[in-house]
Amino acid sequence: MGPDVTASRGRSLVIRNGLIVTAGSRFRADLRIGDGRIVEIGERLPADVEADVIDAAGHLVLPGGVDPHVHLSPPWVDDLTTGSKAALAGGITTLGVMSYPDPPDALLEVVGREGARIRREAIADIMLHTVIRSPTRETLATLPRLAEAGHTSIKIYMVSPTFDENAAGFTAVMEAAWEAGLLVMMHCEDAGIVARAIERLRSAGRASLRHYAESRPVEAEEVATRRAVAMCEATGAPIYVVHLSSERVLRVCEEARARDLPVYVETRPMYLHLTEERLLEPDGPLYVGQPPLRKAEDVDALWTGLASGAIDTVATDHAPWTREQKMDPRLTVATSRAGVNNLEVMLPMLYSEGVRTGRISLERFVAVTSTNAARLFGLYPEKGTIAVGSDADLVLFDPEATRPVRGSETPSRAGFSIYEGWTVTGWPRIVLRRGEIVYRDGALGDEPGSGRLLTRERFTRP
Ligand SMILES: [Zn+2]
Repeated sequence: MGPDVTASRGRSLVIRNGLIVTAGSRFRADLRIGDGRIVEIGERLPADVEADVIDAAGHLVLPGGVDPHVHLSPPWVDDLTTGSKAALAGGITTLGVMSYPDPPDALLEVVGREGARIRREAIADIMLHTVIRSPTRETLATLPRLAEAGHTSIKIYMVSPTFDENAAGFTAVMEAAWEAGLLVMMHCEDAGIVARAIERLRSAGRASLRHYAESRPVEAEEVATRRAVAMCEATGAPIYVVHLSSERVLRVCEEARARDLPVYVETRPMYLHLTEERLLEPDGPLYVGQPPLRKAEDVDALWTGLASGAIDTVATDHAPWTREQKMDPRLTVATSRAGVNNLEVMLPMLYSEGVRTGRISLERFVAVTSTNAARLFGLYPEKGTIAVGSDADLVLFDPEATRPVRGSETPSRAGFSIYEGWTVTGWPRIVLRRGEIVYRDGALGDEPGSGRLLTRERFTRP
């Protein structure tokens, strides 16, 4: 039986007896929700006859996850509906979708096109990151209008083969981003080092995906990140390093932050749970991502960085392919399909492997999965916390629920998980998006088009 997604529409809802957790505290209280927002927090709130009541005893009440990094357009296999469902089933209520302008400088047009798609397909709320592929005059002139329209982040792929020839242009984009109040997301891998590594493997007859880790060495990630930090320092633009994978690169960012530069760090679940040996297994191609999986020391450093605050966010970088697509025998280190399906399991696995093991506190768990992203991307306090006036995006999380990851049951069209069979303790039980129950006990509401295109504040340092 599906959840009654309309149960709380137009009525107030009271959530009782849960342990509320924010990035800064935890406390027992009841919540009252009306018109999609949290309207009251207190002890033993009375429920009038018109109110629905949810008993959250034994559950954590968390702000809905804010995952600022997903891919939900072709060639990846999920759209905004299947991506939303996977997200909501995993306690993530807000998604940051990478949007690719075509032609490359049609920045406002892509927002219009994606907005129409959101109105048809989305169930989660959506923010858009516009990918800057070509730093033309037109692109530079449009950045202030992008910010005015409330889309206050852009993405640059330093790994693109055309990045170097356009480096001056991208530096100008960052100057314009600083002036317009945009946060610049950066994929930090050096295109030249990666290209040469691939070429060497090819000419040695070692282009199979068994050698994927060698095709994208940590030096490529490190030098690109150093360059991104220098571009930040030279232009003033705040940067957000996506999917940081290694200890060496984390040190680069820590050093930049020690100098008070606006450098923010994201990592992704793969790098917290797996190491590069996976790539040597028969199903190794399933684990291909950019950058590649790294070593056990890197995994430890990332967990330490999550606990210390050196890492701001964990994002899925959900980039779903089917098993057949990932295992396609024609793929090589030059033509791999990077990325994995991650949305449904990110929070449960981080809780299970991080909070239950004592590696991170509950409050850090909330900070890195919700609050920090909401702050960095201009959505706080509408999203990312539990406070009067905030959107009622809430996860009633059962910290004792234990079940294995079953990839075949995911709402994602990927249809498999690289964590198949992992036993995970701590799963969402009920998920509310703006006060509506969109997930309950394994059943998803189904209202494509009910998700919103979010407009956001300009970047300010958190
Ligand atoms: Zn990505």
